[in-house]
Amino acid sequence: MNYTEMTKEIEKLKKEKDAIILAHYYMKPEVQDVADYIGDSLGLARTAAKTDKQTIVFCGVDFMAETAKILMPDRNVLIPYSRAGCFLADMIIPEELIEYKQEHPGVPVVSYINTTAQIKALSDIICTSSNAVDVVKSLHAKEVIFGPDKNLAQYVADRLPEVTFHIWEGYCQVHERITTQSILELKKKYPTAAIAVHPECTPQVTRIADFVGSTTKIVDFVKNSDKKIFVIGTEIGIAHQIRKKAPGKRIVFPKATPLCYNMKTITLPRVLAALKKNQFEVSVDKNVAAKAKVVIERMLAASR
Ligand code: SF4
Repeated sequence: MNYTEMTKEIEKLKKEKDAIILAHYYMKPEVQDVADYIGDSLGLARTAAKTDKQTIVFCGVDFMAETAKILMPDRNVLIPYSRAGCFLADMIIPEELIEYKQEHPGVPVVSYINTTAQIKALSDIICTSSNAVDVVKSLHAKEVIFGPDKNLAQYVADRLPEVTFHIWEGYCQVHERITTQSILELKKKYPTAAIAVHPECTPQVTRIADFVGSTTKIVDFVKNSDKKIFVIGTEIGIAHQIRKKAPGKRIVFPKATPLCYNMKTITLPRVLAALKKNQFEVSVDKNVAAKAKVVIERMLAASR
């Protein structure tokens, strides 16, 4: 079966199974093209929380599908590849966070959405790259524990100097590999270009950027800017929607193309198999899910 035939079959199965396909910007182009909604983690969580469809096929990594299941426990949530994990989410485990909380008694924990359900359940609130500053502000706290992404933490800390941040030492290997040197080389080659990067990039990179934001915000920035050329500091999958939504704008990526292998494990044949065979069902322990739901909803309320 070729991609055109697979796409037709997927569209047919979506109707038969009352399914919606949600996809992150880092998905392969052909997977994005069968999605009903494409967005960043915040948009995906919001869309999952209000769908009336019985089945949610989540084209992203496991913590994203888990978040959808926590928000909609009565729905059938499927992830097309059961081992699509996230390197960053693996950088913090419950035992370590419990110990860290004991070392900082009474300090609220703000966890990035890129965490397991257990880490969410141990947190006071979660955030995404899109709302992290607003979420921390909403706590009115003097100190916060922020993890697991140290780069996002530093980006937020730079904007809230009145708050003391206890920063977890985690990072996303895809964004960490984007260097200032590679960005500046492109800026030299294209002097009129605007630099737009994700806050998971290092502080050295975010500090030289013209724009820092989530994937959705980067797409909007390119679309609405008067500039014609952009140096993009995030995963290459974003190129597909930029080309669709901002045709005529030129985008270039740093050397050593930022590529998330975990995201790329979601392929079109696996999306088709997910719908055909009802695989792989996402489940979250009930007690963990109940606690995690409270902190996810707290975030949705803080970023309304
Ligand atoms: S790009 Fe980084 S943070 Fe996003 S899923 Fe891949 S490893 Fe995780």
